[in-house]
Amino acid sequence: MKKEDCIFCRIANGEIPSRTLYEDEMFRVILDLSPATRGHALILPKQHADSLYDLPEETAAAAMALAKRIADRMRQRLGCDGLNLVQNNGKTAGQTVPHFHMHVIPRYDGDGQTIGWVPGETVEKELDEVRDILTR
Ligand code: AMP
Ligand code: ZN
Repeated sequence: MKKEDCIFCRIANGEIPSRTLYEDEMFRVILDLSPATRGHALILPKQHADSLYDLPEETAAAAMALAKRIADRMRQRLGCDGLNLVQNNGKTAGQTVPHFHMHVIPRYDGDGQTIGWVPGETVEKELDEVRDILTR
């Protein structure tokens, strides 16, 4: 389903023009308007889902398969040296557009981008506790 007033629904379904790299019945892949690096792309499902939490599992699997194909093409055609897949869910995690999307970000030696996190302390007791919570 499309959601009214969702900009990515409108882009994915072709109501708003975009620089489209790929399109099929499930997805549109576009260039990000404010690219982190040369070739930064977004995989947009045509069906609205706010985030990964309400994305159907089949769509999630298909999005990853598509990301792999886009990644291969970027390496081949743009000659990138590496690549990040980034997928934010919720404001706290940096999601600014509430329509599921996956960033495909080609990386180049010396591109100056920082995509990542600050590594925390290794606290064995805490790790055991979290493992127990998530596996019981
Ligand atoms: P996120 O912070 O994960 O929600 O990412 C949203 C991304 O969408 C950002 O990288 C924006 O630059 C990008 N963006 C927002 N509006 C548009 C648009 N109209 N066309 C292309 N990219 C967009
Ligand atoms: Zn939407």
